[in-house]
Amino acid sequence: MQKYEKLEKIGEGTYGTVFKAKNRDNQEIVALKRVRLDDDDEGVPSSALREICLLKELKHKNIVRLHDVLHSEKKLTLVFEYCDQDLKKYFDACNGEIDPDVVKSFMFQLLRGLAFCHSHNVLHRDLKPQNLLINKNGELKLADFGLARAFGIPVRCYSAEVVTLWYRPPDVLFGAKLYTTSIDMWSAGCIFAEMANAGRPLFPGNDVNDQLRRIFKLLGTPTEETWPGISKLPEFQPFPLYPVTTPLSSIVPSLSSKGRDLLQRLLVCNPSLRLSADEGLMHNYFADLSPAIKA
Ligand code: ADP
Ligand code: MG
Repeated sequence: MQKYEKLEKIGEGTYGTVFKAKNRDNQEIVALKRVRLDDDDEGVPSSALREICLLKELKHKNIVRLHDVLHSEKKLTLVFEYCDQDLKKYFDACNGEIDPDVVKSFMFQLLRGLAFCHSHNVLHRDLKPQNLLINKNGELKLADFGLARAFGIPVRCYSAEVVTLWYRPPDVLFGAKLYTTSIDMWSAGCIFAEMANAGRPLFPGNDVNDQLRRIFKLLGTPTEETWPGISKLPEFQPFPLYPVTTPLSSIVPSLSSKGRDLLQRLLVCNPSLRLSADEGLMHNYFADLSPAIKA
């Protein structure tokens, strides 16, 4: 720990406290995340440690770099690349509107980061605006990739805040245990709609039931016909058969028709029919994206 000089505290979240710090060797600014585990006295499980060390190899411009893993005295500190702010804070500062070109750029970078991790069989599982970090030059990077697998998604944060359900797909809400890349694609859809609405969340549910009801009221309740196997999910419970009454155009009015088409293909209840990150990147919504961002 002598290597890093702690500067100010940045935030508190799911796994612990995040500090801004400076590497004394090269003056580089980093983010230190002190991970707190449920049973702290047991020390860090070796399985978690192995998972985490693999994440050091996940190098991509749209993924927050994990520089280092410091493990001592049963404590774990992750040393990450530092970013200026997260998407949630960006929303708070945006005065009710985000430039459609910025939404497009952020969405492209989000999908590109996902495509990279998914091609390496790493899932995020806990994508939300607080885990999308943004730099002053408009770069977007995904934070906390792979941590959910190493540590599990806790029910409560270290800071006692309840972990949000807003970005969870219906299959996971119904207790599906076999996680696939489609889990992140649902979250990406929710975040896309939230960006287009300048930070207004699409499905701000209060509990699992309320979360599912909000989803089905907008998209229609899935059935065995539209989603074979749905009623066999571990925590399945029947819902009223809500019809689709609200067109997406009134939900995300600022999004172009191509953007709405992309959103519609991400927000699919049946996980096997949800668009993949690679497919999303090829969608014609991105046809007129500036080449500088595509590069
Ligand atoms: P959560 O993702 O659950 O909000 P975290 O512990 O990951 O909690 O992070 C807490 C806060 O610290 C985040 O909301 C974010 O604003 C900030 N943060 C996390 N990682 C970084 C980083 N690499 N650079 C800058 N800020 C960060
Ligand atoms: Mg985070």
